[in-house]
This record gives sequence, structure tokens and C-alpha cells, in this order.
Amino acid sequence: MKQRADSVRIFLISIVALLLGATVFSSFSSATSANTSTARFAVIGDFGTARSKEKAVADLIHGWDVDFVATVGDNNYPDGLMPTMDENVGQHYQQYIKPYIGNYCSGSPDVNRFFPALGNHDWHSITCNATGTACTGAHFDYFDLPGNERYYDVLWGPVHLFIVNSNYEEPDGTKSDSRQAAWLQTQLAASTAAWKLVFMHHAPYSSSAKHGSTTRMQWPYKEWGASAVLAGHDHVYERLLVGDLLYFVDGLGGATPYSFMDTPLRESQARYSDDHGALLVEASNASITFQFFNTSGELIDTYSLKSEIPTTDAPTPTATPTPTGAINCYALNRSHVGPGNASSARPNGSIGCSPGKVYSQSPGPIKCASWMRHTGDRLGWDE
Ligand SMILES: [Zn+2]
Repeated sequence: MKQRADSVRIFLISIVALLLGATVFSSFSSATSANTSTARFAVIGDFGTARSKEKAVADLIHGWDVDFVATVGDNNYPDGLMPTMDENVGQHYQQYIKPYIGNYCSGSPDVNRFFPALGNHDWHSITCNATGTACTGAHFDYFDLPGNERYYDVLWGPVHLFIVNSNYEEPDGTKSDSRQAAWLQTQLAASTAAWKLVFMHHAPYSSSAKHGSTTRMQWPYKEWGASAVLAGHDHVYERLLVGDLLYFVDGLGGATPYSFMDTPLRESQARYSDDHGALLVEASNASITFQFFNTSGELIDTYSLKSEIPTTDAPTPTATPTPTGAINCYALNRSHVGPGNASSARPNGSIGCSPGKVYSQSPGPIKCASWMRHTGDRLGWDE
């Protein structure tokens, strides 16, 4: 009888899980694209400077029309503090962030599309309790991420992202036998996604003359099921093949580039640090393609993997994207601007703005402004 009761219970649990799964999937798919069998996303690293190079990389990415942006850390120089967070991150990437609590436009209208890893600069101002069960800092206040928000995973169509915290201060450890590593091993083993990508800040392998390889992060990712490992910290672009596993260093998102060692690692296959840029990744169940572009839109490196899983998917689109500079929302004179924000403009009422001014209801403080029109279809707030 017990066996029968158990199987009934398992059946009921399965039905509930299926219903839950269907709900999650339907809201997920409507929020991303009509066809969730593909994923198109950007990977940036070492970008959070609020300088012109960060903007140039962001403009490149906005022209790609990506589903989401993943980072390999150093999102908010120099110390990961809240007063610099919005200028360093939201100013250029708010349209991917939800919920968005900053002052640049309105954030992502549907789901969160921004998945940051923690860099050493981001960790400067983070504190954890003695048992390591809770940590506080701007990263946790500004972003709303899965799990403990220090290391977490995100499934997006054929791609499963595993965001690892490579800062040695991580309460659950950064060695290959740590609690965090056990989490990664378990999650990789449980994933049925076509592509399992591991993201972190400190590069396990790097030919940069500045930092080089972080040996404590050289975990057996391949044995655990990873398809590729993406990191930053060194402000270069590098593609390596270590054993059978693909590694990237992708740290040219905005901070000053570094140079390479005279003799690069023998596993190094492509290197670049002449200009800033970002990785564009396009994935289907059949294949995944990594392309690094500089801010001039020049394709610097491309590399594809084919799935060993039989599939009837169409091949990965290989068209080279042209950066258009099109942005839903953008910043001008410290103000909220752009068509995406136009609907939040209201005539001045009892808000306290002076006559002839309108106010913004976007997240953040209410702003009084004159409505002004710029060239093209760009609208801007003029305080
Ligand atoms: Zn770093």
C-alpha cells in the first residue's frame, strides 16, 4: 500500500510540477521571444567606469538587439558603492534591468535581462555575517537576482548560465572542493540545456601581463559538464582551449586595456586588446557562436561549437550585426530621456513643478522638466 501511496503522491507532485513549469515557461517565453529555442546575448566585463569607452561598448550592444546581457564583473568601479552604481551601470544598461530603481529611464519593461557576476571592485564594499549566510552591499540592493545573488543560475532557451563568485572572500568558498563548487557541480549535472556556460570574474587562464591565470579558479568544469567558461579581470580579449574546454577572457567593456605577456599561454588561440569591445553570443540547440566585436563594429574573433545532441533546429544565424546606435532610452544632461519614457510625462499638476514644466513618473525621484524635442525622434527632458 505504501508503494501505491507513494506513486500516487509522485503522480500528483508531477502534475503540480508540470502546471508550475507550464506557467513559468509561458510567462518566460512571452517575456523573451516567440522562439525560445534560441538565445542572443552580450557578455561584458570590467566596464563600470561611466567613461566614454563604456558608452561606446554599450552603444555597440544596443545595436545588437540582444535578449539579455551577462557580465563577468567589475560592474561598478572603484568600490562597488551605491552612489556610483547607477551612473556606472544603469546609465548605459538600465533597459535590461528589472526591477530598476535608478534614475535613467524606466528599466526593462518585462523581465530582468541583466545578469552580473561579482568582480573584486564590486566586492570592496560587501560585508557578510559571521556564518556567511547573508551578505549586504549595493550589488544586493540594486539588482534582484536568483538564489543568494552572489552565485546563481539562469536558464534562457538553449543556454544555461552559471554565475560564479570568484572573489576569495565568498563565504561558500572558491576552491574546487568548496560549497560553492559543489553547488556548481550539482547544477551542471542536473542541467539538460544544450549549452552550459560558466561566468566569473577572475580568469582561470589568461595571457595578460597584468593579472594572468587565477589558479584557484581552475576547477574541473569540463568533467562537470560545462560547455565554456567566461571571465574578465584582465582587460583584454582572449580565447583559449584548455584540454577540451573553451575559455574566454572578456574584460574590454570600458576600463583601460592591458597588454599581453611576451609569451602567451600555449592554450591561447586568439588575443586582442587594441580597443574596447564585447562578446555577442548566438545559440540554438544545434550550435553556439561567440563573436568578439570592437567598438567600431569590427569582428575580431569568432568561434562556434556544434551540439552533440541530435536536433532538427535550423543552423545558428551567422549574419554579422551592424551596430545602429538605436537605444530605447538614453541619458542626456543627467535627465531621463527617450521615446521609452515619453508615456511617463504628465502635465504639471499638484506635484509642485513650476508652470510650463512636466514631471517624470519613472522610478526614482520625481523630476520637473521642460519638454524638449531633439533631432530625429529623440525626446529629452530639459531641467
Ligand atoms: Zn577585477
